[in-house]
Amino acid sequence: MLQFFERPPATLFSTPARDLEKLLGGPALIHIAGRQQPPLFLSVLLHGNETSGWQALCEVMSKLASIGAEPDRNVILFIGNVAASAQGVRSLPGQMDFNRIWRGEHGMTRLASEVLDRLAQTQLFAALDIHNNTGRNPHYTVLTQINAATVGLALLFSEKAVLVEEPDTVLTRALQQFCPSTTVEVGPVGDPQSTARTVSLLEHYLTLEQVPQAAITELQMHHALARVHVIPGVSYDFADQVSPREAAVHDLILTAGMEAVNFHPIQAGTEFGFTRKPLAQTLQVLDTQHRDVTSEFLLDKNGHVSLARPLVPAMYTTDKAVIAQDCLCYFMERI
Ligand SMILES: [Zn+2]
Repeated sequence: MLQFFERPPATLFSTPARDLEKLLGGPALIHIAGRQQPPLFLSVLLHGNETSGWQALCEVMSKLASIGAEPDRNVILFIGNVAASAQGVRSLPGQMDFNRIWRGEHGMTRLASEVLDRLAQTQLFAALDIHNNTGRNPHYTVLTQINAATVGLALLFSEKAVLVEEPDTVLTRALQQFCPSTTVEVGPVGDPQSTARTVSLLEHYLTLEQVPQAAITELQMHHALARVHVIPGVSYDFADQVSPREAAVHDLILTAGMEAVNFHPIQAGTEFGFTRKPLAQTLQVLDTQHRDVTSEFLLDKNGHVSLARPLVPAMYTTDKAVIAQDCLCYFMERI
């Protein structure tokens, strides 16, 4: 299933994400020769529609090619869910999320272990997994481990960072056994700024002589306390997207504007939504150990749902496909 390339196919960096499946034949691991060892590991398109990382890499490589130069450092590139990219979606219906396959036994164990086994044979400089934000969020770095190197790498990109302990099946966590490893959420898909900031980040990474080190106090560091799920089967919508008449037939109406306060601290008592069924039947908050902690975070007074404690929402999205596949939002706190 994994395709392996000793060098990039000639037209690779002029191929749009949509056409990569045709060119590569599936998820691919590609060596790109550069001047220095050990190689930098880059991964793009684990989510098929998150194309900024791919566009940025194409730009960086085309710029180098136009002056006949090679990158300052060797790169091992993993191009992920090209089948989903061909359809312009995060993942295909029924397909596993490519950023939830890097641990445990499941239908995609073989692909994940082939990639990890190959990487285990090489010393790596650092690893960078590039994503686009879901929902209106500032750009930020995701860490699965805090140390001077991951903090130093995060600061190359943003002062904002999130420590994610759960899910523990993400690629960045699997790679931390090999080298300093981070994920960047570069901004929304389709925003030229998302690609531009990824181009500068890649150019920065490729020219690093060594992995920078920094103290955690230099970052605005948050950690996820819990994930908020809309219970499957519940009919719901967002207050600003439906007429009052339509709103009256839904089990759950979520307060408009929460997406705009992603990464901003908000007070206990802030309105979160309105539920026509008991709260336990419409929303569920799960902590990092998958325990139901709904009542610690949300209060239900005659259907009016509000926050039970101060917190920082993140990755709040109004995209129903993402909500069904992943979650509505995370609740975080500043570390
Ligand atoms: Zn993603």
